[in-house]
Amino acid sequence: MTMPLLTLRGVERRYPAGDTEVTVLKGVDLDIEAGSMVAIVGPSGSGKSTLMNILGCLDRPSAGTYQVAGEATGELDSDALARLRREHFGFIFQSYNLIAHLPASANVEVPAIYSGRAPAHRHARAMELLTRLGLGERLQHRPGQLSGGQQQRVSIARALMNGGQIILADEPTGALDSHSGKEVMAILHELHQAGHTVILVTHDMQVAAHAQRIIEISDGCITADHANVPAGSAAEPARQAQTPRVEPSPSAGLRAWWGSFLEALRMAWISMVTHRLRTALTMLGLVIGISSVVTILALGAGARAAIIGQISQLGTATINIYPGINFGDTNPAHMRALKPMDVRLLQRQPFVDFVSPEVGTSSLLRYRDRKGTAQVDGVDANYLRIIGSAVHLSDGIWFRKDAVTHMAQVAIIGYHAAAELFPHVNPIGKIIMVGSMPATIIGVMAKPSGLLAGNSKTLSVWMPYTTVASHLVGHDWFDTITVRARKGMSSKEAVKRITQLLTRRHRSKDFHIQNLSSIVKTINKVTGAIELLLALIAAISLVVGGIGVMNIMLVSVTERTKEIGLRKALGAPPGAIRRQFLIEAAILGLSGGILGAALGIGAALLLPGLIGSSIVVSPVAVALSIVVAVAIGFVFGVYPAARAARLAPIDALRTE
Ligand code: ADP
Ligand code: MG
Repeated sequence: MTMPLLTLRGVERRYPAGDTEVTVLKGVDLDIEAGSMVAIVGPSGSGKSTLMNILGCLDRPSAGTYQVAGEATGELDSDALARLRREHFGFIFQSYNLIAHLPASANVEVPAIYSGRAPAHRHARAMELLTRLGLGERLQHRPGQLSGGQQQRVSIARALMNGGQIILADEPTGALDSHSGKEVMAILHELHQAGHTVILVTHDMQVAAHAQRIIEISDGCITADHANVPAGSAAEPARQAQTPRVEPSPSAGLRAWWGSFLEALRMAWISMVTHRLRTALTMLGLVIGISSVVTILALGAGARAAIIGQISQLGTATINIYPGINFGDTNPAHMRALKPMDVRLLQRQPFVDFVSPEVGTSSLLRYRDRKGTAQVDGVDANYLRIIGSAVHLSDGIWFRKDAVTHMAQVAIIGYHAAAELFPHVNPIGKIIMVGSMPATIIGVMAKPSGLLAGNSKTLSVWMPYTTVASHLVGHDWFDTITVRARKGMSSKEAVKRITQLLTRRHRSKDFHIQNLSSIVKTINKVTGAIELLLALIAAISLVVGGIGVMNIMLVSVTERTKEIGLRKALGAPPGAIRRQFLIEAAILGLSGGILGAALGIGAALLLPGLIGSSIVVSPVAVALSIVVAVAIGFVFGVYPAARAARLAPIDALRTE
């Protein structure tokens, strides 16, 4: 006689009962030969199922040893036990335990998914097995559409999917009418004839009579163990044990991984579709969070681009020097810091393209009987080059260098001044009074556009700064000096050199410098801070969305505890279960993210029309928020997934 296939020695199983323990199996010694058909009989509550679960590696003994084909199970971890179940055992349960939302063929395929068979192979084998069991016409029927006998045949096909070397059937006929019960027993007979080891639990002696060997168990102890001449097949000589073909496990773990990945995707999809409303509500938080982030970022980027675009029109590489150590400085001595000497000094510097001082005042403008208060700016001949493209002459000319040298009484008037004082005549060549000084108009400025336009209807006049200094303000210091650095000189470097130069000449830093890049920097800082704040608020809603995902995943784990237990019994390792729930959570996140991004872009496209601002939808930001949504789903799915993976197969199977 060869070595027994299954060997139990001194197996005990105790369950905690309140403060004490109950011992359900009390030192069971048992050998089961390959190819035998064994019935375990005994009254209800005697420990038959407990023994069966230990035989099937769904449960571990509290004491004693159990060997499967020479392999001691005591040392194996849950992954190894899952492999053992996949490779050696086929389970048939009293209540069939089919997955309700999968058709018959998909139910049969489940064990092969976890052992990594190719889909084509799986489909073909499931079809072959079901056809052999007389269900060829019912491949796509769901369990609910099949009779009890048919469901039990589906579960037999499932038990054979990976070879089913050892068939464990716990009360397989218990839920069936006598006709279907006979059918099932006939199939088990055939399997035994074909070389499968069949272990059958029953409390029905008539059913047990089919077996070659009957083990009686009572109150956790084996009370009898005897050979039996099976009814019906009595004439047949007992076959020599001939182990059936055990499907070799595919070598590549990658295919098993990919198979269970696809299975997880499908399960996630089915679970989401079956609970549409719940899924939608779960995603709502994520959708709101992601869409607000996307909208806020788009609006923020749009507003910033608009502001910076307008500022750039003010002239690009100019640097403005102001008197006073900062904008708030009111020290009168500091107000006089910028002098003509500074202008001449700066003009001599090789890194300077040109220098343009400015001094302003407000004066009464008068032409005949029309008058108005105007802002008078004393500027240089090169003023137009400084202000850049935002403003230009609409008529006449600008004054030249010699007008500055000679303090010429010439003026260029602004658009509003022209409209106010000269509604009907061309102002060019006319003489106006600026305060008490007469001046000839030589040019008219076009209506300003962009940021410079503002809302003000201020009347403006430009004159040589020397003229304004001597005739209107009566002092020689400037309000500002504008410098443009030569090409190739960075404005940062230019600012540094100007600061050094003027500080040395003034013997103190009684001025401050602003350039475009510092303004842009400030704007970026301010808008960035606002965006960050808004994004933070949106992020909170994302976290809330994530908690929603976790909540629903936990519900889903609880709801599917039995299915998880079944999948484990059929050979799913903990990793596959964890992966499945993580994928489900990530898919929730992905769907929420995509939906949210679409909604956010939609809102961002719609809003400018309503609030009159521009938007810039950055693909990077959109992609990033979708990634964030997936990550949130994933992170908040970790805990539920771990919980599902940790479930003991037998505890999970027992829940209703
Ligand atoms: P049966 O022979 O009817 O299949 P079982 O093996 O299912 O009997 O149960 C044997 C005994 O063990 C019963 O008294 C039952 O109450 C107890 N039992 C089974 N499972 C558990 C459990 N998880 N916790 C506590 N007691 C259990
Ligand atoms: Mg039982």
